[in-house]
Amino acid sequence: MKLKGWLDSNRGVFSDSDLRFIIKNFFSDSPLSVLEDNTFLDEKRHNSLEKIKNLYLRKIPLAYILGKEEFYGLEFKVNFGVLIPRKETELVVEAALKIIEDNICQRILDLGCGCGNIAISIGKSSSRRLKICALDISSQALAAAQRNVKFYGSSIKLIQSDLFEEVKQRQFDLIVTNPPYVESKDIRGSLKYEPRIALDAGDGLDLIKKILLQAPPYLRGEGYLIMEIGYNQRRAVNNLIKGSGRYKIINWIKDYDNNWRGVILKLWISS
Ligand code: GLN
Repeated sequence: MKLKGWLDSNRGVFSDSDLRFIIKNFFSDSPLSVLEDNTFLDEKRHNSLEKIKNLYLRKIPLAYILGKEEFYGLEFKVNFGVLIPRKETELVVEAALKIIEDNICQRILDLGCGCGNIAISIGKSSSRRLKICALDISSQALAAAQRNVKFYGSSIKLIQSDLFEEVKQRQFDLIVTNPPYVESKDIRGSLKYEPRIALDAGDGLDLIKKILLQAPPYLRGEGYLIMEIGYNQRRAVNNLIKGSGRYKIINWIKDYDNNWRGVILKLWISS
């Protein structure tokens, strides 16, 4: 059978980007050339593609089926115990890289690192010599992060910790975080396959509140805190920031759909 034949008979099953990722993983780095030539689908690959399709039809996220996801031009290994990296989080990485370039930031903390995608992307893209520490409460997340750190040869220190619990004596120039921020009632559909601990934040703000409250002693001088937030949380998060009296807002981050999805804060030093 030709690959083209299989694709024709499964038209509409996969989204374009998912199909591209599958083909890239199975055939080559250039999915288009595979489609143009008459690529033959041997039995082994045919069976694998059928297996993937059946899991996909059960709405299991492709990243879990393939065990990996693309993020910031890299591929990260994921398992069912770890959040799947999202496109919008690339904007958090971009914001962090800009802050690092423009300021003296050497010590970086990725709080709730999941598979390590933020920490590793920052480490690989920055021209600075950074000391990056990445922590997560989940041992499954840390196992995935460990595999990714090893794969990319990054010198990132991984720590299992409930928020700042295990980094009590340390201070950072920049803390970057994609905390859980989904309301419990909104965990539906494909989100159900992802670890609740990485998503569920009660009313959506539980973890954001804790981080805003707890972060100041862990920030050096006028250190920075960059945090991803839910698409509808800007007003609430703004109130929390103002209420804390501890931060200056440097900027808000907008995602590709024009929603406010993150905030860049600087520790407020009262004189
Ligand atoms: N971006 C994820 C979503 O909206 C949520 C991730 C998180 O809670 N940090 O599905």
